[in-house]
Amino acid sequence: MERVKIVLKSGKDQSPRRYHPWIFSGAIKKIYGTPVEGDLVEVYDNKDEFLAIGHYQPGSIAVRILSFTRVEPDIDFFRDRFRKAISYRESVGLLNDPGTNVFRLIYAEGDDLPGLIIDYYNGVAVMQTHSVGMYRLRREFASILKELLGDKITAVYDKSEGTIPHMSGISAVNEFLYGNSDPVVATENGFKFRIDWTTGQKTGFFIDQRENRKLLGEYTDGRSVLNMFGYTGGFSVYAMKNARLVHTVDSSASAIDMANENIRLNYGDDARHESFKVDAFDFLNDIKGKYDLIILDPPAFAKHQNVLANALQGYKRLNIKAIEQIKPGGIIFTFSCSQVVTKENFRKSVFAAAANTGRRVKIMHQIGQPVDHPVNIYHPESEYLKGLVIYVE
Ligand code: SAH
Repeated sequence: MERVKIVLKSGKDQSPRRYHPWIFSGAIKKIYGTPVEGDLVEVYDNKDEFLAIGHYQPGSIAVRILSFTRVEPDIDFFRDRFRKAISYRESVGLLNDPGTNVFRLIYAEGDDLPGLIIDYYNGVAVMQTHSVGMYRLRREFASILKELLGDKITAVYDKSEGTIPHMSGISAVNEFLYGNSDPVVATENGFKFRIDWTTGQKTGFFIDQRENRKLLGEYTDGRSVLNMFGYTGGFSVYAMKNARLVHTVDSSASAIDMANENIRLNYGDDARHESFKVDAFDFLNDIKGKYDLIILDPPAFAKHQNVLANALQGYKRLNIKAIEQIKPGGIIFTFSCSQVVTKENFRKSVFAAAANTGRRVKIMHQIGQPVDHPVNIYHPESEYLKGLVIYVE
């Protein structure tokens, strides 16, 4: 069967010529044929020159590009992409690190596999597909993982139910594609975490804060630590190593249970840790002088460009509360994981917050996402996590 051909408007070839992996619907002049969501389509400029091949999707992002050269995206093609992603992680020391067996194995555009996320939890690979094209290939991906990782893979779980586009009409069912496993206990920098991909958010754990949690550990000695938006207690577990006290706050009861359990796994019953199931903004109303290290890692305040201004206000409000009330000489780890909030915008929000309080603030570190969430240089959108570590005099 002839493959569907998509021709771009004049000038709209600039983006794929610079290897940006998305074709927006507005760039399309004509579609020759009637592609079904998830089909492979070829993209041409308006002089009929081949530009790319990718997965079709009706909607704002019309094509997620797999290759800018004329290749057949068959099983060998994907095996090769997986091999590259795995050898990258091997080369940065993640694949055989005795202290860490939790990492992101495939990071979508960052690994030239748009629409596909695979996280690795001590033998269990948890997959989330964000496009029908990738979802259709899930079983092949499970076989490739087994083939390339052998004994390192005990099970592959697909958790695409909530991630493939609603409009596609596909009702994905979360299931094991290979093997079976109960929740696992995995290690990150020597700390233990129980990971439950079935009940947890996203694939079960926020792997992207690994390097920042390690950095936090350098500043916790003897401090009173407040971990806001704690989720599974990642930052709290690192802080507990030598902090005077650690308080974990989250509005979700299941998150608080997970955080408590992870503290217990590493420290048993330790009275230095306490958790609070409460709304962050309420909790922050009355913390004056109680803490000298605060972590602010809220969920994405902006999912779309059109709510950007509100999101920036949200970050500002949150940071004002922390900067205003932290003890003199305190440190704040403050983050934004909204893709639409740029590093500059986030820094401006924190600046505006600091100015509002009138306190002297120094930037100690400007941080972001770890090596297993590599930013595709042609796809700035793959950089989403930004953080500042600030010192408040
Ligand atoms: N810092 C965590 C990840 C945070 S995810 C880590 O390192 O793993 C964001 C968390 O914020 C979620 O657990 C969610 O339940 C919680 N949350 C969302 N809105 C909240 C609110 N208004 N008050 C308190 N917690 C909230």
